[in-house]
Amino acid sequence: MNPTTLSNFIAGAWQQPHGRKTLPVENPSSGAVIAFVPLSGMNDVELAVRAATSALPSWSAMPIKERVQIFFRYRALLEQHANELAELVYTENGKILSEAMAEVDKSIELTEFACSMPQLISGEILEVSRGVECRIDRYPVGVVASITPFNFPAMVPNWTIPNALALGNTMILKPSELVPLSSCRLAELLKEAGLPDGVLNIIHGGQEAVEAICDHSGIHAVTFVGSTKVAKIVYQRATSHLKRAVCLGGAKNHLIVMPDAHEEMTASNVAASMSGCAGQRCMAASAMVAVGPVDHIITRLVEESKKIIPGKNLGAVISKIAKERIERYITEAEQQGAKILLDGRNTKVTGKENGYYVGPTVIDFVKPEMNIAKEEVFGPVLSIIRASDVDEALKIENANPYGNAASVFTQSGGIARYVAEHVSAGMVGINIGVPVPREPFSFGGWNESKFGSGDITGKSSIEFFTKLKKTTTKWNPEARKNWMS
Ligand code: NAD
Repeated sequence: MNPTTLSNFIAGAWQQPHGRKTLPVENPSSGAVIAFVPLSGMNDVELAVRAATSALPSWSAMPIKERVQIFFRYRALLEQHANELAELVYTENGKILSEAMAEVDKSIELTEFACSMPQLISGEILEVSRGVECRIDRYPVGVVASITPFNFPAMVPNWTIPNALALGNTMILKPSELVPLSSCRLAELLKEAGLPDGVLNIIHGGQEAVEAICDHSGIHAVTFVGSTKVAKIVYQRATSHLKRAVCLGGAKNHLIVMPDAHEEMTASNVAASMSGCAGQRCMAASAMVAVGPVDHIITRLVEESKKIIPGKNLGAVISKIAKERIERYITEAEQQGAKILLDGRNTKVTGKENGYYVGPTVIDFVKPEMNIAKEEVFGPVLSIIRASDVDEALKIENANPYGNAASVFTQSGGIARYVAEHVSAGMVGINIGVPVPREPFSFGGWNESKFGSGDITGKSSIEFFTKLKKTTTKWNPEARKNWMS
């Protein structure tokens, strides 16, 4: 079967973009081209904005209890189509099927949170002086845009779609051009759930489409998830056009391992954190700061990592370029004197020889000044940096410009508390390798891992996707005597 060229989804229908430029979409496990994604421009964004703008009045006027009924149905459809969605995520992203299924499960949890919005956003009312009351109501921001990365093709779009729409906004989604297929299917399921046309629109493309989104005056808020380099560009460009923006960037997560840490639990958690989704998670362990005598844990960690087999319980990385970048970091660290305990370079999977696989890699005696210690590698690679005490470990963690996640492995409550207080990261784990705060807690990092105030999911998303109206009312004449009314 020939790979098809995808269309944009505008006002509930699939539409070919104006231009003819496309990019091939690859299956990273095999290198096969599975589709062509169009590269949209300003004209296409204009059509999507028109559709989202005309859908906004009736959608935002619908009582929230009615709006969330669509998300109850959407949740049921996600469950019903879980296998098919996981297969799609696997095909376009390369992660293993169980990881793809976890994305669908997380999408269901995100949708459940959106279904609880009526309970969460009921307004406030107070008699502020005699006979005078003030009430607060939440209104949608308007037309919002959501720009998403390649590493979670189903989950990250669902970070924003259910919450933003349940709160009465309409949306333009710009999925990663590397993984555009899952988003298309989500749009179809939402339509089947009863979402009115124009409430969710999809624009495919890359830089040009994103720039058009940032510049368009008809879009009122932008969320972005991706690399720090692009997060900065999008935050600056969107806010310079006076839009509300929250832009999540890259990560370099440090796991501090103390000598008293539980050997088996620590080794298996660190190995799973660095290798899950082939290390392509913004919450992945990238650097392990080994404090004092922890060689027994490192030995166990290498044993655990050897159980992670490419093509079996380790997926492919997204592209040939990514594989080459990751392997370059490993080679450079080796040349600079780091010791490779487990080497995932030149991995070939039988039957998937053209897939982009990197095996689990553990590198000891990495120095904080090496590139592999400072930069986001985004592959199944763990750098071990040695530290003599907990304060030196914290210094290393704090010096990194990112601030998504950090963890400590110890059996001491005092040390755990001390590290949790002093790491410079928005999401902290104690004996947890991937400390994702689940609903209703919100997701978001610090420093160069996030630009804009507030987080992107959970309760924090309510502030981002709504604006407050404050109404002060007086009906009775006796209230006239009050000094402020
Ligand atoms: P990316 O920054 O390359 O792309 C993200 C989005 O930006 C895509 O939709 C892409 O089309 C668009 N884009 C790319 N270049 C652009 C440019 N020059 N101008 C405007 N738009 C552009 O990121 P990616 O490679 O798809 O995703 C991996 C990155 O995302 C990693 O850095 C990872 O840490 C990060 N990430 C962060 C989080 C988080 O919560 N902080 C979550 C997931 C992924």
